[in-house]
Amino acid sequence: MAKYHIWTVGCQMNKSDSERLASGLDQLGLSACERPDDADVVVLNTCVVRQSAEDTATGMLGTLRPIKTADPDRMIVVMGCMVGPKQDVLRRRFPQVDVWARPQEYGPILRAVGDKVGIDAEGCIGQLIPTAPSVATFVPVIHGCDKFCTFCIIPYRRGRQVSRPIDEVIHETRMLAERGVKDVTYLGQTVDAYGHDFDPPMDLADLLSAANQVDGIERIRFLTSHPSDMTQRIIRAVADLPKVCETINLPFQAGDDGILTAMRRGYNRDDYLDLVSQLRAEIPGVAIVTDLIVGFPGETADQFERSLDMLREVRFDKVHAAAYSERPGTIASRKQPDDVDRAEKKRRLNAVGDLQEQIQAEINSALKGKEFDVLVDGETRGAPSGRTRTDKLVYLTRGGASVGDTVRVRITETSPYSLKGEVLELALESELEPALEPALAEGRA
Ligand code: SF4
Repeated sequence: MAKYHIWTVGCQMNKSDSERLASGLDQLGLSACERPDDADVVVLNTCVVRQSAEDTATGMLGTLRPIKTADPDRMIVVMGCMVGPKQDVLRRRFPQVDVWARPQEYGPILRAVGDKVGIDAEGCIGQLIPTAPSVATFVPVIHGCDKFCTFCIIPYRRGRQVSRPIDEVIHETRMLAERGVKDVTYLGQTVDAYGHDFDPPMDLADLLSAANQVDGIERIRFLTSHPSDMTQRIIRAVADLPKVCETINLPFQAGDDGILTAMRRGYNRDDYLDLVSQLRAEIPGVAIVTDLIVGFPGETADQFERSLDMLREVRFDKVHAAAYSERPGTIASRKQPDDVDRAEKKRRLNAVGDLQEQIQAEINSALKGKEFDVLVDGETRGAPSGRTRTDKLVYLTRGGASVGDTVRVRITETSPYSLKGEVLELALESELEPALEPALAEGRA
């Protein structure tokens, strides 16, 4: 039986795309393997959002070159954001690659692999739905982006916004529920723009409402939202629909209006703060997660301080911070010189990290002694772990619980990045489970 290996870097969208390609390759009769050296088909699913991610992908391609030379029948495939509409330069630079495919462009890959194994891919492949999904699984619902923020390469690589039909998404959600999924996260670069490209237009709230009816699904999440696309209907859907979790991923990117304008984000600081106030007023206990870029071209020390002020004011549950990285082909790379030096970017990143760690420590320490429902989605060194509805990672230190269980947990210890908790039902009637004690002592959180 032919084997495949998929190597993935980048965001959840890429991981989700890889799962879908794996489903197609499984349907062609191939089996997955752990090492590229053992595979007949090696797929690299790439990311170019930051230079470091692109360097990792090109480094991997260099590693594969001698493997391809030694065995020319081995098929090398590159998919994802490294592959733009024009591939001539890539083809010349990396002649070892057999197939180039843009994000979600599964057809050329499956046809080429079908030809290799002597199967007509057109006739035998059904929907690309993960065959053995995790209990918490990601589902892309809108591809591409129409925003064209000046620093971002995504619209050039993933194209314009295209939403998947609601019936298709709900069918996939049902299939995933039948395969054991309980927690589904709808993905998009600007997920709250879902349905705007339909005629007549729809809203993410319509999709959330339909998904709320799917038996077996216990939790529904969505990411990433753009502040300009967040509507009152979506906010009400999160507040009112019992399965939709109270977590909003809402990048602010910069705290200074001049930098937000230079980024062409389409909102200002006050707009963002008003939206946060609205979310907190209408969705009790909502967790707000954000993205932030430091060292954007022209960002002064004072302007960066405005970003730190934003962190202090909003007190986000989590912050994904990144140093600005120039991406060729973007508006910023043509018009906005990358003039904040590397050491200063690092200093700013560290300042964000230190401040946010303190804020998260305070937010999480207030949870000690409180009770939450935790959906168990994994295990670390024999001890189960899971997430609250607000996406807090909880290591379970008492009681037995298996992947897929939703258990009532009391928080016993906190850190800036995770929590520890005991399962209440079992804690009431049983002693500590000896097997879990060492994990508690090691302080994994
Ligand atoms: S909203 Fe801006 S940052 Fe987000 S994917 Fe679109 S262009 Fe990129």
